[in-house]
Amino acid sequence: MSSLSRLTVVAILVVAWVGGGAKAAAATVKADELQQDIRTAVYAVNRFWSDHWSDYFPGQYRPPRVVGGYDGRSPNRPTCSGYRLLPYNASYCATQHFIAWDVNLMRLSHSYGDGLVYQVISHEWSHAVQNRMPYRHLAWQIELQADCMGAAALAGAARDGTLVWERGDSQEIAATLRGLSGDTPWTNPADHGSAAERIDAFNTGLRSGMRACLV
Ligand SMILES: [Zn+2]
Repeated sequence: MSSLSRLTVVAILVVAWVGGGAKAAAATVKADELQQDIRTAVYAVNRFWSDHWSDYFPGQYRPPRVVGGYDGRSPNRPTCSGYRLLPYNASYCATQHFIAWDVNLMRLSHSYGDGLVYQVISHEWSHAVQNRMPYRHLAWQIELQADCMGAAALAGAARDGTLVWERGDSQEIAATLRGLSGDTPWTNPADHGSAAERIDAFNTGLRSGMRACLV
């Protein structure tokens, strides 16, 4: 599965390229690309919500803290309410209002192409929004709603010019969701929905926007 398409950033981005230089091994380049995709996703999703929170909800936008990547194999990985975050998962911790992800989940996703890395971050960010938006907007299936909202935020960022959405990005995300379904906690059909349901929810947000995701 190769990625013909990359979500790329428009020049305004201030993310620094922490590069390996000309002599970098392919693995290092790949790791740098992943780090850059993660920084870009965090920037673009936060920017979307900061610019558009008031289009949908009352009150003030309060972004989650970005604890970021941890090693799911490490005994010292972050905790939420006293529980260690899971290997191969990404989470929003409601009690401490932060998001975090296992770097190994991101590496695995990235091996299919960069699309799902953006959606993982946008999905977790959506949980932070769900936690603070008026309760009446909350869907019963919060995971599928987070998939829908995650896609709508990425599409909105693309509309605003913060991200470039390229042909094939949504197919790439769908293919990654199918490929990883059942393999990780983040793609466990029992609590997140089947790959088909998740792709449907994603496409609703992508095509119809944030309001279509909200109850
Ligand atoms: Zn979720």
